[in-house]
Amino acid sequence: MIKLAKTPRTWALGMAALVAAPLIVAAPVQANANFPSPEGNTSTSSILTYDDTVKELLKLENTSRFGVDVFTLAEAGTEVNTSEQGRDLYVATVGDGPQDVWVQGRIHGNEPYGAEAILSLLKDLGTNGSPQYEEIRDAFTVHFIPMYNPDGSELNIRQTVLWDSAAGQPRVGADGRDLIVDLNRDWVDGKFEARESLAFYEYWTMVDPAYGIDIHHQGLKKEFGTGDDVTLSLGISLAPGGPTLPSLEGGLYDTLTRQMHSYVYEELSGTGYINMDRYQVGNGLEIDIKGGVVSAMMLGLNYQGLNEEGHSNPVVFFETSGNTSDGSLGQKARGKSIQQNILAMRTLLHGLATDEVQATDPEVWEQIPHQPVTGYSTDYAGVLPVIP
Ligand SMILES: [Zn+2]
Repeated sequence: MIKLAKTPRTWALGMAALVAAPLIVAAPVQANANFPSPEGNTSTSSILTYDDTVKELLKLENTSRFGVDVFTLAEAGTEVNTSEQGRDLYVATVGDGPQDVWVQGRIHGNEPYGAEAILSLLKDLGTNGSPQYEEIRDAFTVHFIPMYNPDGSELNIRQTVLWDSAAGQPRVGADGRDLIVDLNRDWVDGKFEARESLAFYEYWTMVDPAYGIDIHHQGLKKEFGTGDDVTLSLGISLAPGGPTLPSLEGGLYDTLTRQMHSYVYEELSGTGYINMDRYQVGNGLEIDIKGGVVSAMMLGLNYQGLNEEGHSNPVVFFETSGNTSDGSLGQKARGKSIQQNILAMRTLLHGLATDEVQATDPEVWEQIPHQPVTGYSTDYAGVLPVIP
């Protein structure tokens, strides 16, 4: 890991709520409790449910000092406004700044910490009077979506299940299987198969955010070159310098997304339990996918004439190592895995609020550990070679 001279800003940590997770039986002994366990033993019993999330949101609305507003998309007025299975879709806002920011978690239902990190940061922004939080509230109105995919979260699956509400059962495809949709590949003109996609897309067109953040999990990962465990990968769904991003907004998003992650990298490199790299898929491939929600935001997708003015905004994502599907989430690193997302989000929001992000050298992106780029994995043309 590259050590940078810059001293990370000191924040009061809100860890108390996070370390109270229920105990599980006989977690394997690990060399380093900062990292998720490769030994399995994933316990889902301590993962937030939909009901937990709603309860916590309503509690924060009632107890916050600085105006946390919690509402459903039905209350916000979107035409489609529930999940496939009919669950209300929740948003919470905090801050009264002129620019809007979109922060989403758990679009993949089996990637739980986005919801928990968002609820914790929402609490801090709603209650903490220190200047750093105030600067965020003064610059932005932050729209937090802790659980984008409530049905998939209840099932602890990545996707959502398309639902026949009249029959009260899953819709079934020609092959006799339940129809499932990855909500993070569904913001594509001609698709929008799931209700959640239409609902949140319409809400996005109402908000017109200036920036976005998206929280995910990945499998266990080693840093290229050193073999050190990676705790957090910094990702952009349209690769910087790749086939698509440099052409958007005259290259502005290519620069801004690099700066967003470069700033986070510089600020958090001195935090001992966090080891960052760049998000890549196998063999040095960067991703360049257009159907992801955050890509569609950068592309300014105009679906059903809802975004005629062509609004678009830059977005980055964070990938925490360890996931429930591979049984690698573990339990010992839980508090730190969640805390790194809180720190990364808060750091980025503060850097954007104070224009420190916009003053960051975008070339720092090249210093963030990564494999030499060999090509681009796309959802529209297979694998594309590096552009010379
Ligand atoms: Zn994900």
